[in-house]
Amino acid sequence: MNAQVLTILGATGTIGVNTLDVVARHPGRFSIFALTGATQTEKLFQQCLQFRPRYAVMTEQAAADELHQKLTAAKCGTEVLAGRQALVDVATAPEVTTLMAAIVGAAGLPATLAAAKAGKRILLANKETLVVSGQLFMDAIHESGAALLPIDSEHSAIYQSLPMGFNGDLDKAGVNTIWLTASGGPFRTWSLEQMAGVTPEQAVAHPNWVMGRKISVDSASMMNKGLEVIEARWLFNAQADQIRVLVHPQSIIHSMVEYRDGSVMAQLGTPDMRTPIAYALGFPERIEAGVSPLNLLGSSLQFEQPDFKRFPCLQLAFDALRTGGYAPAVLNAANEVAVDAFLDGKCGFGDIPGAIRHALERLPDASPLTLEDLLDADHRARTLAREFLLSREVA
Ligand code: NAD
Ligand code: MG
Repeated sequence: MNAQVLTILGATGTIGVNTLDVVARHPGRFSIFALTGATQTEKLFQQCLQFRPRYAVMTEQAAADELHQKLTAAKCGTEVLAGRQALVDVATAPEVTTLMAAIVGAAGLPATLAAAKAGKRILLANKETLVVSGQLFMDAIHESGAALLPIDSEHSAIYQSLPMGFNGDLDKAGVNTIWLTASGGPFRTWSLEQMAGVTPEQAVAHPNWVMGRKISVDSASMMNKGLEVIEARWLFNAQADQIRVLVHPQSIIHSMVEYRDGSVMAQLGTPDMRTPIAYALGFPERIEAGVSPLNLLGSSLQFEQPDFKRFPCLQLAFDALRTGGYAPAVLNAANEVAVDAFLDGKCGFGDIPGAIRHALERLPDASPLTLEDLLDADHRARTLAREFLLSREVA
């Protein structure tokens, strides 16, 4: 097999770093075409020295200039580019076989969608892309014949529990229900009143996973599970009623597929993102990931119903999925704004669902047809969410 040529969008983030960790375990199997990061110049510099990509992309020109100087001084030939178009260019370049889409938020959408249109093999961590543009994105995948492999641990588990070669027809595959497991996050047992006063540091302290700050807050509000429900809808062509959430605090069963004959297939493992990353990088082969073996001795596995009242974001996501049209894009955009404001100390944790509801109540009634329509709805939802937070005199 020829070496896969990889672009990693969001190389400096948690998923990016874990991807490079797996890549480094397989010399000769992968080569790196481009690495990208928003602002972490020093981290991207170190990654360039180690992996020698053709290109490095930074979002801001000033950061790109700084990286260029460091690389020149270190005699590293990596060329530095800046800006959003450069992300699209390195995601779609003819040399690239495989894209790891690991930017956080809707910011990852344009380059990921462009790579789908260009028929690249896409390893999708950036769930917000599917939440915002599910139909368009899946259409692009089907039209170009691109391969799409999920990185989210739950969706990787479902993919692994479906028949090999699953073609999007759950009925034909004999599937009744997709069970998405959820850890419940750091506030699983807290009351709404207790949650209202939490700090960003408490919210990002996830019991089982080390992740970027935005997804950590989403896990604490259970919006992450809500986004994953929408992600599952598109990845597996499932109806909202076929997707159920089960709280499983130990994060050992990563998700399950229930078949009509009563069989339930699950994927288990130590909670470590290198497992789904290695699965997607090596597919259909199984490759070494550096993950500690699962030790079930002495552990007990618990299961609980999700509480939609204490975690209103999960309910809002199910509602947005059922509404369809612009609703998932609006939900996502308002959530991004509210989570940013919360992390900046400008609003309370309990204001997050309020800002999302405010934007959803004012959403356009027509159906989106184009990417521009969706990006416009995203933009308007951000303005509405900011308005809501300001009106509460907290932003
Ligand atoms: P992170 O915050 O650690 O990293 C985000 C990466 O995106 C960084 O490289 C950052 O520089 C880059 N970035 C941020 N804003 C950008 C912008 N506006 N333009 C261009 N680049 C930008 O996040 P993460 O935890 O690695 O998560 C990345 C994605 O993977 C998210 O969509 C998340 O939901 C998904 N995901 C993460 C995990 C996990 O365990 N961390 C698990 C499942 C899914
Ligand atoms: Mg997940």
